[in-house]
Amino acid sequence: MIKFLTEPLLFDTEKGNYCYDNSTRIVIPVNKSEKNFLSAIKIGDTIHEEDFQKNNLNELLHKIVKYNLFQSDFQLPKITEQFIKEKLLTEGISHLCLIVTDACNFRCKYCIYSDHYFYSKNFSNKRMDFQTAKSAIDYYMNVNIKSIQYNPNLSISIGFYGGEPLINWKLIKQVVEYTNDNYKKVFDNIFFSITTNAYLLTEDKINYMFDKNFSISVSLDGDKENHDRNRVTINEKGTFDRVFKNLALMDDIYREKVRLNKPVLPYGILITYDNLTDFSKLDKYFMEHPELDKRIQRVNRVSNINTEYYKGVQLEQSYLERRKDFIKGLIERAKDKQFEKKATNFSKTILKSIIFDPMMNTAYSNNELRGTCLPGIHKLAVDSDGNFHMCEKINPHYPVGNIETGLDPTKQANYMNNFFSALAGCKNCNLNNICNLCYVITETDGQGFQLKDTFCKNFREGIINSFSTYYSILENNPGIFQEIRE
Ligand code: SF4
Ligand code: SF4
Repeated sequence: MIKFLTEPLLFDTEKGNYCYDNSTRIVIPVNKSEKNFLSAIKIGDTIHEEDFQKNNLNELLHKIVKYNLFQSDFQLPKITEQFIKEKLLTEGISHLCLIVTDACNFRCKYCIYSDHYFYSKNFSNKRMDFQTAKSAIDYYMNVNIKSIQYNPNLSISIGFYGGEPLINWKLIKQVVEYTNDNYKKVFDNIFFSITTNAYLLTEDKINYMFDKNFSISVSLDGDKENHDRNRVTINEKGTFDRVFKNLALMDDIYREKVRLNKPVLPYGILITYDNLTDFSKLDKYFMEHPELDKRIQRVNRVSNINTEYYKGVQLEQSYLERRKDFIKGLIERAKDKQFEKKATNFSKTILKSIIFDPMMNTAYSNNELRGTCLPGIHKLAVDSDGNFHMCEKINPHYPVGNIETGLDPTKQANYMNNFFSALAGCKNCNLNNICNLCYVITETDGQGFQLKDTFCKNFREGIINSFSTYYSILENNPGIFQEIRE
């Protein structure tokens, strides 16, 4: 007897039919009769072996038993302070993000600090001072020193975030020196990271960061026209020329260090796009600039959460058509076994972000929380006043402690329970193992967390589309993106 604790999710390609099982995250091919049978299943249905046999579904039964399909009973956890304390002790804090300033020399039109975003904070001249940074680092290190006996692979990861973090360059250097002087003997691996608009980069800064084990991410939105459309200075001047020049300098320095066999982490480029971004143009641009193309790290859509941004970018139909055509063409190209050799990194990253990433949201899937993180533990963001936040992206209404008193397990547990209470419908959802819902997506102005009406519908449509496209590509090019699948 098989009791279905989760509903099968069916999808089709041009050549076949498939079923995704949320409990194991396994996809199996199914034939027409198996598809018909599975499409009638509702959560809680019990089917006897004889019924499978009667309907000639022995093979399906065999697969269900062999892979233990449809068996996970998802329970929303009830979080206690004790749970938080144990996690902090046994896992340590994975990443410390220092928000070293709220100031920025840019006014990118899609910035989350802009007025387009309802709940986020605005730009200010606040800068973190060394005493605050030092207290945050000491707290982070002391937690992790206690945790290392339970989690021996724990490494130290400190990120600098803004505003534009290079505005507070003096502090960044102080933090690096202080951390290395005081904690290098305890932790072999200390990594630094920074996300910068690159405007204030100089030869000295670049050299310093490469030599100190920094992973550097630079925002560049493609060609001059597209970049300057959104990424402008406070005086609304385009920034492309200077960013491009600084990137070229960084590339020279990077190559020279590699040539001299110096240990250096590769730098990356982050691209943000909105509805007006012309993918074909960007693809052409990166084809002509392979040195930039190979550095593309991520391609992100301008956030559509809690914003009026998209009201300001009204679309002409022709843009939508062009975007659709590009994606359609990209999917067709991906079916060619030579795709990975021929395509730009830009195209491959777009494909991964729209097709593969939604299906791969397994970052935290091995813990009880499925898609979301443990606030303050998987990441601890510290603002210039020394307040702790669960993420650099969340609005300031959800602090989880501060440098004086440390993480506050009561608050952490309360936020998590409040978040889970907004998710009552997730228990029976056959996507709850890959859903990317998180605190930031459900934030309000401090009135708890709310699941917006459209989220589930859009997520479901997107996932079914992703599965179907992915398997269409795999049918033709089974080796594609082997590295992510592994
Ligand atoms: S550089 Fe970053 S922080 Fe500054 S305006 Fe642009 S997106 Fe915002
Ligand atoms: S799609 Fe909606 S119901 Fe399903 S797990 Fe995600 S948030 Fe919950």
